[in-house]
Amino acid sequence: MLIVLSGPSGVGKGTVRQAMLKSGYRDFHYSVSMTTRKMRPGEVDGVDYYFRTKEQFEEEIANGGMLEYAQYVDNYYGTPLHYVNEQLDAGQDVLLEIEVKGAMQVRAKCPDAVFIFLTPPDLNELRHRLVGRGTDDAVTIQKRVNKAVDELKMMQNYDYAVVNDEVPLAVDRIEHIIQSEHLRVQRV
Ligand code: 5GP
Repeated sequence: MLIVLSGPSGVGKGTVRQAMLKSGYRDFHYSVSMTTRKMRPGEVDGVDYYFRTKEQFEEEIANGGMLEYAQYVDNYYGTPLHYVNEQLDAGQDVLLEIEVKGAMQVRAKCPDAVFIFLTPPDLNELRHRLVGRGTDDAVTIQKRVNKAVDELKMMQNYDYAVVNDEVPLAVDRIEHIIQSEHLRVQRV
């Protein structure tokens, strides 16, 4: 099963994903994305992202190597196709943590995937989190908040909406969704 965790930047997708990887329920593989943005302190190439140049990323797109990709606040982000296919073919669940434009590309290509939208309790909280993270300057934060206003309207295209008020609660809700999806009766 392909699980797409999406939602506005700053909503805590990365934190929730990391908490899922550490929680008791770890029966899925996380697909490491590729990006052209600069590595942040503490990030590791191949673990947090595959950090690539714009030229390398565009070559990957031209070779048909991306399941989806999007330009997000001046950088490319995307999901390399081969890892996802490998894991799905091996019968493993795969988790993507991606922004909404990419999620809609996956929706078009893989309609059977499970689409989960993570929402902030409210926009002030989102701004607060972006500032608190301390990784972006004021202009970038404003760009990310503006984008979040648009992104929130996309919620209706998802199967589930999960409020990230507290990370352990959000993780719990997502794990329940995944378990329920596995019990779904396949209609023929
Ligand atoms: P950040 O720069 O904060 O790590 O990520 C910025 C945004 O890009 C976040 O919303 C994150 O979920 C999204 N993102 C990360 N990886 C991918 C990807 O592979 N594809 C797409 N479409 N978005 C991604």
